[in-house]
Amino acid sequence: MNALAATNRNFRQAARILGLDSKIEKSLLIPFREIKVECTIPKDDGTLVSYVGFRVQHDNSRGPMKGGIRYHPEVDPDEVNALAQLMTWKTAVADIPYGGAKGGIGCTPKELSTSELERLTRVFTQKIHDLIGVNTDVPAPDMGTNAQTMAWILDEYSKFHGYSPAVVTGKPIDLGGSLGREAATGRGVVYATEAVLAEHGKSIKGLTFAIQGFGNVGSWAAKIIHERGGKVVAVSDITGAVKNPNGIDIPALLQHKDATGKLADRENAESVRAKFIIEAANHPTDPDADEILFKKGVVILPDIYANAGGVTVSYFEWVQNIQGFMWEEEKVNHELKRYMTKAFHNIKSMCKSHNCNLRMGAFTLGVNRVARATSLRGWEA
Ligand code: GLU
Repeated sequence: MNALAATNRNFRQAARILGLDSKIEKSLLIPFREIKVECTIPKDDGTLVSYVGFRVQHDNSRGPMKGGIRYHPEVDPDEVNALAQLMTWKTAVADIPYGGAKGGIGCTPKELSTSELERLTRVFTQKIHDLIGVNTDVPAPDMGTNAQTMAWILDEYSKFHGYSPAVVTGKPIDLGGSLGREAATGRGVVYATEAVLAEHGKSIKGLTFAIQGFGNVGSWAAKIIHERGGKVVAVSDITGAVKNPNGIDIPALLQHKDATGKLADRENAESVRAKFIIEAANHPTDPDADEILFKKGVVILPDIYANAGGVTVSYFEWVQNIQGFMWEEEKVNHELKRYMTKAFHNIKSMCKSHNCNLRMGAFTLGVNRVARATSLRGWEA
């Protein structure tokens, strides 16, 4: 099932559980605005090349739309649509005053030079600059993009609208980025894990972990889990897998990955059996797998909660930019933990009221908050 069909299915199920007004249900299924642009740039050798860029703005009932921009060869409209919708529920679950959006460019960033990436980012920004903004839509990094990408967007946007650091988050610290933002998604994953483990009378120390994905989110989560006495026994990504039943030396693995760009030669990590699955990526579990795992008694912490730490600290970054006052990293992490823990308890009470699993608990929580905002704002044209 493609990402959009799966996301719509979860949304519809949540709408049914909540007894949502059909008018609101229909309106929340249709994105607020879908943007598709052609981005043509000269390559370093002078030849012209075109890429297709997207920005889907799903909903803004609770505030400016918010979400990352990814550079990936498989970016397609359905996927961006699904991810934009997931951002709407994610910001609502985290209870930060935003709606949801997502963008992307279908490209292979590793095959582009830094100056080609800069040109591509600037052309994309030129095409969408009048549709994003501090109070309308605030992009951030995602797969294949980073703080440097945000710096280029900020610079290009500022040529049209004046210097506006709060138009993007996940910026370099020197340009108004927040301390703690780089690690925030991985750190939030750890706080989410602690919240669910505490409920089962467990803690990270002494438990074993397998981590799929070792980019920004996976590597920060691994590092923090390792620091807290958790035993990471398997790590895998597209470049390979590492397994050690006695626990992997995560700092050494991070060094190896920095030096060589890959984890190791491929090994099979499939035999790992988990009691808890924490979805640090967006939409990593197919709905069929979801059902099988649920029946097997595996506790799944859904993406729209588990990886909400990134956008939560994006919110702190935006607040700091608007206040013109920078927070200490300690305050950022403390607030992040508070938001993640509160969201977990809010999800649990939805699970209890509606007798549903954690994914539906998160969906009903998010959808209900958005629906309330939508109906409060009204319908009159
Ligand atoms: N790309 C991240 C996500 O999927 C962060 C989005 C943001 O900070 O706006 O949640």
